[in-house]
Amino acid sequence: MKLLTEDLISRGYLKTPRTIDAFYKIDRVDFVPEELKSEAYVNEPLPIGYGQTISQPLTVAFMLELLAPEEGEKILDVGSGSGWQSSMLAYIAGDKGKVFAIERISELSEFGRKNSEKYNFKNLKFIIGDGSKGYGKEAFYDRIIVAASAFSEIPEELKKQLKIGGRLVIPVENSIWLVVKKAEDEYEEKEFPGFAFVPLISE
Ligand code: SAM
Repeated sequence: MKLLTEDLISRGYLKTPRTIDAFYKIDRVDFVPEELKSEAYVNEPLPIGYGQTISQPLTVAFMLELLAPEEGEKILDVGSGSGWQSSMLAYIAGDKGKVFAIERISELSEFGRKNSEKYNFKNLKFIIGDGSKGYGKEAFYDRIIVAASAFSEIPEELKKQLKIGGRLVIPVENSIWLVVKKAEDEYEEKEFPGFAFVPLISE
């Protein structure tokens, strides 16, 4: 994990001290299936069952740097999968923050919850459901991050569930978008092309 993290720092993907710390502390080997433990530190997505993957470390680093999560924040993580990124977010948010990790496949939500148990986070809650509409029950959020790719546009409901000043990072087809909520119904949006994701499946 140390070598993988150092590689992401030297290539300029990881920059922020608390996010770098999360990479050092939340070991990817704890979040991959038993038979893939030997590949945990390879900079590639890996299968976690049900046609899904634990995301590529480089992509997670890039998206977390755009998200710029901070201690004490309320964060929504859509598509929690293995629970690796959710656990890093829980580490960054700290005791005063809260992370809601939503996943549509119940078996994966359970896989993520079990994987993260080792770290004993009190501020991380796993939810089974369709996160393409956010999670209105706990809105509004400082940060929202989505690990699966939306079809053709950014779901309006996710933008609405941001606090003013909040940030949303979401893939749409083969681009990652950063959305910053400037005021009610006023958003600044920036596109970063050249990525591949599993699809965000809406019910
Ligand atoms: N951060 C996760 C990780 O590293 O393990 C990413 C897992 S994978 C790339 C994306 C996840 O999004 C999958 O587990 C998939 O089931 C989930 N997903 C897809 N559409 C969803 C939806 N509408 N609501 C919640 N989760 C969804």
